[in-house]
Amino acid sequence: MKRIYNFAAGPSMLPLSVLEKAQAELLDYNGTGMSVMEMSHRSKAYEAIINKAEELMREIMEIPENYKVLFLQGGASTQFAMVPLNLLNKSKKADYIVTGYFAKKAMQEAKRYGEINVPASSEDQNFSYIPELDKSRLTPDADYVHITTNNTIFGTRYTTLPDTGDVPLVADMSSNILSQAYDVKKLGLIYAGAQKNLGPSGTTVVIVREDLIGNAMDFTPTMLNYKIHAEAGSMYNTPPTYGIYILKLVLEWVKEQGGVKELQKINEKKAALLYDYLDNSKLYKPTAAKKDRSLMNVTFRLPNDELTDKFVKEASAVGLGSLKGHRLVGGIRASIYNAMPYEAVKTLVEFMEKFEKENS
Ligand SMILES: *Cc1c(COP(=O)(O)O)cnc(C)c1O
Repeated sequence: MKRIYNFAAGPSMLPLSVLEKAQAELLDYNGTGMSVMEMSHRSKAYEAIINKAEELMREIMEIPENYKVLFLQGGASTQFAMVPLNLLNKSKKADYIVTGYFAKKAMQEAKRYGEINVPASSEDQNFSYIPELDKSRLTPDADYVHITTNNTIFGTRYTTLPDTGDVPLVADMSSNILSQAYDVKKLGLIYAGAQKNLGPSGTTVVIVREDLIGNAMDFTPTMLNYKIHAEAGSMYNTPPTYGIYILKLVLEWVKEQGGVKELQKINEKKAALLYDYLDNSKLYKPTAAKKDRSLMNVTFRLPNDELTDKFVKEASAVGLGSLKGHRLVGGIRASIYNAMPYEAVKTLVEFMEKFEKENS
């Protein structure tokens, strides 16, 4: 067996110990004589798994009592509709700050359900920065303000959350949940598809303040109503059972690493190693504004497509995989989520140094 360093943006690398644990438990979970995949979601054994997943999520993110933790399906993209359907219930207005491809998709979907205002956008410079927010542009009676905390494709992130006063802040944290400490109290709702920092695709985590639940639009499909899932403890129908099990293993791993604060330190170290090198290089050009650089997705360019292709090919040959950037940015993207070890980033930088010497 040979495992590569997989720099994919999502689905992405999982901690090796998580995969090994899943492998060891694959055929007979904890003496039940069956795989978690084959188990009734209403069984005692499974109940213990989903309860533990929620308990760990609460502990690791310090989620207050008055928030629900939901394990849903449909990816972050389903939340693009579920958020407005459930939260656009007073003024039917919301503000969306557009900082990337997914932020824009979320905004466009919300437009189907209410009056959507865009108080700030960075589309003018291909989403390479986080725009300043002029507070006077916020809608005073908005039902919520939506942001994307980390822009997976463009490699930017919010370093501090915008202050929206009494208006609930809703955050798509798909690509940086658990990568840095967040004060959950400052947010009304957080959602994340699991496949970047939490586990396999197929599970979506929603953390939502209780007072925001229960006023969905009349025509909201049952499966898209937070209230239904909250009251049923994410068991209204069959939840993504195996994905939640892997998520539980990932959360146990996060705890073993010392929790989010420790992971944040490692993530900052990993990102600094790569950005410092990029800033001193003559060959590579980082694409994101320095002040807004992501800790999770590091984007940079080479002088031309030919060298970019050569870079991707040669990196892949030495076990540094999935480095090709998204078509909207071009160049290279190294996704260095929680599961990516420091050692891997070091190996990448060494490869980049060698490649620079050979190609300049
Ligand atoms: C990957 C990603 C999405 C899309 O997630 P799906 O689970 O594929 O719907 C949305 N938002 C962000 C920030 C992402 O990184």
